[in-house]
Amino acid sequence: MNTFPLNELEILRAVVAGSPNPIGLYAGREMRIMLANKAIAKAWGKGDDLVGKTFYEVLPELESQPFYKILDDVFTSGVPYHAKEDRVDLVIDGEMQTFYYNFTYQPLKNEEGKVWGVLNTATNVTEQVVARHQRANLQEGLRLAVESAGLGTWSIDAVSRKSTLSETTRHMFGFEEHDHPTLESSLMRIAPDYREEVINIINDAFEKGGRYDMEFPVIDERTGKQRWLHSIGKQYHDTEGRPTRFSGIVMDITDKKQEEIRKNDFIAMVSHELKTPLTSIKSYIQISLLKAQKNGEDFIANALGKADQQIVKMTKMIRGFLDLSKLETGKITLSPESFDLCELVNEVVNDARFVNQSHFIEAESCTPLPIVADKNKIAQVIDNLISNAVKYSPKETEIKVACNVYDGMAHVYVADQGIGIKPVDQSRLFDRFYRADNDIIKNVAGFGIGLYISAEIVHLHQGQIWVQSEELAGSVFHFSLPLPQDSVN
Ligand code: ADP
Repeated sequence: MNTFPLNELEILRAVVAGSPNPIGLYAGREMRIMLANKAIAKAWGKGDDLVGKTFYEVLPELESQPFYKILDDVFTSGVPYHAKEDRVDLVIDGEMQTFYYNFTYQPLKNEEGKVWGVLNTATNVTEQVVARHQRANLQEGLRLAVESAGLGTWSIDAVSRKSTLSETTRHMFGFEEHDHPTLESSLMRIAPDYREEVINIINDAFEKGGRYDMEFPVIDERTGKQRWLHSIGKQYHDTEGRPTRFSGIVMDITDKKQEEIRKNDFIAMVSHELKTPLTSIKSYIQISLLKAQKNGEDFIANALGKADQQIVKMTKMIRGFLDLSKLETGKITLSPESFDLCELVNEVVNDARFVNQSHFIEAESCTPLPIVADKNKIAQVIDNLISNAVKYSPKETEIKVACNVYDGMAHVYVADQGIGIKPVDQSRLFDRFYRADNDIIKNVAGFGIGLYISAEIVHLHQGQIWVQSEELAGSVFHFSLPLPQDSVN
């Protein structure tokens, strides 16, 4: 028994009606609509009463668009037409609106091979196309903003390590406009002293992710001139978390760098020039002080003693500036020797007591602690921490200095009962020129370089420096240094 109740056209009608995609079937050269499903009616926006009308009657707005001709060509040539993301402007609710469709005009032929109609199937891809256009516009806007700010961009593929540099970046690295440098040839332009560090940071960024932020000089092969660049980048991933590329921006900071170098040179020169007259003032004061003491001139002796303390403070400040400029130019070096850290703490505390009679500075008793380090520089760190404790705590309070072995390292701490430090400031105290922003600090002389220099000295020794503090509840500054190898084994 034949259970198939529908003739061919009915089957087609059922299939077409059920399709979520627009489908229409047009007969004859005049394109009379034989079938039009709900989806095509919705897409055209001309109501449901379409069958029997011609394509041209229903969609007059297409006359000025290419589709009438294409449809007619398909009918006369018998060759199908496939459109990919074609723009179609349709009048919907009385308003011309733009859509994008993938569609096919498929010629339908009779047994003799003669075309009798056209099957039109379509997919609305407006959302994807618009989103892509918006993305492209956004990217273009960003590219323009980046370029007008004088920034270059770069990108390194995570798998092939192939690099792509924008024109500005190529120019900054001293390449010609038409050059397409490889990662290796770009790295070769970086000044030799910095090259390895940049390579390590790039490798690290690839292996561990995270951000990369570096300043380095590049040498222009054509002119031999050096140019300073600041490059910032990060790793990007695909949806499965696999790294796809490492990319970022680069800016030319030559002017800023040169300004910094000039400023450093100036600070170094002024500090150096001040040292000599200060040393001779100090010796005159000390000779006069001895004479005044011998002659029993108490008032003068007292005044000269105070002047001497001020000279000590001024000498330390000048040494700070000299150290700063040495650090900036990488000229600070260590002269390690073997000494007892506990003894050094006692010496520095005794000197500090002489200069800072306003506070009770105490060294906790400790056992001998031999270490190998630059003794003068470690003394400078301890002295700096004590000076800060004095500056930032009320008079006649106690400052405790101690040394011991902690966590396999030689450890020194300086504890005060002063104003303390807010958590937001704690992480930045060791930055150059950083001072906590509050009224007390503003009234205390300082430049925000002491802790920066102390941290650099400790780090040069492979040690650590840190602070424990609470606002208004005092501070404890700690630093640690490696113990000599033979005392560890
Ligand atoms: P300076 O004391 O010249 O400002 P430092 O680098 O030595 O520079 O210190 C940086 C900042 O750290 C200070 O301005 C202050 O805000 C804070 N600070 C340092 N030591 C202490 C301390 N013992 N107690 C409270 N704040 C401190």
